[in-house]
Amino acid sequence: MFDVIIAGCGPTGAMLAAELRLHDVRVLVLEKETEPKSFVRVVGLHIRSLELMAMRGLLDRILRHGRQRPAGGFFAAISKPAPQGLDSAHAYLVGIPQPVIERLLEEHAIELGAQVRHGCAVAGFEQDEEGVTVELDGGERLRSRYLVGCDGGRSTVRKLLGVGFPGQPSRTETLMGEMEVGVPQEEIAAKVREISQAHQRFWLRPFGEGVYSVLVPAAGVGDRAEPPTLEDFRQQLRTIAGTDFGVHSPRWMSRFGDATRLAERYRIGRVLLAGDAAHIHPPIGGQGLNLGVQDAFNLGWKLAAQIRGWAPETLLDTYQTERHPVAEDVLDNTRAQTELLSAEPGPQAVRRLLTELMDFDEVNRHLIEKITAIGIRYDFGAGPDLLGHRLRDIEVKQGRLYDLLHRGRGLLLDRTERLSAGRWSDRVDYLADPRADLDDACVLLRPDGHVAWIGDDQRDLDDHLSRWFGKPAD
Ligand SMILES: Cc1cc2nc3c(=O)[nH]c(=O)nc-3n(C[C@H](O)[C@H](O)[C@H](O)COP(=O)(O)OP(=O)(O)OC[C@H]3O[C@@H](n4cnc5c(N)ncnc54)[C@H](O)[C@@H]3O)c2cc1C
Repeated sequence: MFDVIIAGCGPTGAMLAAELRLHDVRVLVLEKETEPKSFVRVVGLHIRSLELMAMRGLLDRILRHGRQRPAGGFFAAISKPAPQGLDSAHAYLVGIPQPVIERLLEEHAIELGAQVRHGCAVAGFEQDEEGVTVELDGGERLRSRYLVGCDGGRSTVRKLLGVGFPGQPSRTETLMGEMEVGVPQEEIAAKVREISQAHQRFWLRPFGEGVYSVLVPAAGVGDRAEPPTLEDFRQQLRTIAGTDFGVHSPRWMSRFGDATRLAERYRIGRVLLAGDAAHIHPPIGGQGLNLGVQDAFNLGWKLAAQIRGWAPETLLDTYQTERHPVAEDVLDNTRAQTELLSAEPGPQAVRRLLTELMDFDEVNRHLIEKITAIGIRYDFGAGPDLLGHRLRDIEVKQGRLYDLLHRGRGLLLDRTERLSAGRWSDRVDYLADPRADLDDACVLLRPDGHVAWIGDDQRDLDDHLSRWFGKPAD
């Protein structure tokens, strides 16, 4: 008997497993593949995800394997620098191959005690009042209290759960891969400069040792389960660029579409969905993996609280009420960005206009805060602007705030030195620091770093501690 079975050990499943283990939840992750992903595409970790990594002591590992880049230039690939003074101690982007971030997150989950079984696909399940019986493709049956589908865009769990996945199918597809080329670099660079002015979904970028990363629109929308062939790449390069650049010896080849869909519900009873299993959208702006990891961060402590028995009655429901609107917004911004990438004259004119508007600091800032997810504010009711936002990694007397959040517990940061979270000390840490770099007297942080309360009154604080952390231990 496990507490939680997670289907899928992609970035979302691995992050969720680690978050649950911080609270001693018995976790089993079932991953259908036996080997790491064959593609090595580089994904961008945006500011909020980097903050989450810092909050769990993972950022240094990630920085060792990734490349830091400026945070700007991501909305519809419009090349504008990030505005000055973004409200984060980690205001940059890290480019990192997806298999590497997956490995780092899986290692982190295993270090914390999660069990991961590769080569096991979830094929079916049944839920009852006490738990879920999960059936593997080989027929084995396992029992857990909860099941979370982190099994990607074609999620078996979502389909078996019967949750609607409304949205739009792919209208276009793009081929992506890494391969060697047969013409000199200067010739490629000149041609790419010329073609990419009219085609946003086109590049050949040197990747080292004669290997290029190639991106080119596909001829139509095909079967995404079928990988493209080298001939598909050659043909499309000839159609778009007039030459196939002599491409040969591919390292890997894949295709992706621009389907946009959002699960109607994130939870039915004891079965939940997170990451691509709950939402898919085009990769423009590089948000999918970030969104999934952030889902896991939101869900982990709530599901753990439910299992540990201290969750207030509606806590687990806030996973959907908080994260569904965030995904809706990401889907919308990717729809907008996709339009802005069209080569048609109308969208091109809108793109030029938006490019001008982004010279206004507020417009640029708004778009960057959206893409990087630092602008997210959950609806915790009326209150100061910071309420519901995440708190940046401020300086406190012991060093940095995020270093105090590694254990995934709540934190009461008290500049008045006269408040207490003592009755909740098994779930909430306390830091008295009159000189903390904060405008407010006192803030209560949830384990995901969002501000759950601001004030200086103990009785009001106790109400909010109960709201988020349940009844105090006797
Ligand atoms: C070209 C491209 C570029 C991208 N660039 C970025 C970027 O820069 N930044 C970004 O944030 N995102 C990016 N993304 C999106 C990102 O790759 C996905 O959003 C991310 O992988 C989702 O993670 P996940 O863990 O939710 O799902 P997945 O990564 O799909 O993982 C799901 C896992 O579940 C396993 N699985 C499936 N079915 C079962 C089953 N029945 N039982 C057990 N296991 C199962 C799969 O093998 C897989 O390991 C990009 C996507 C594409 C296509």
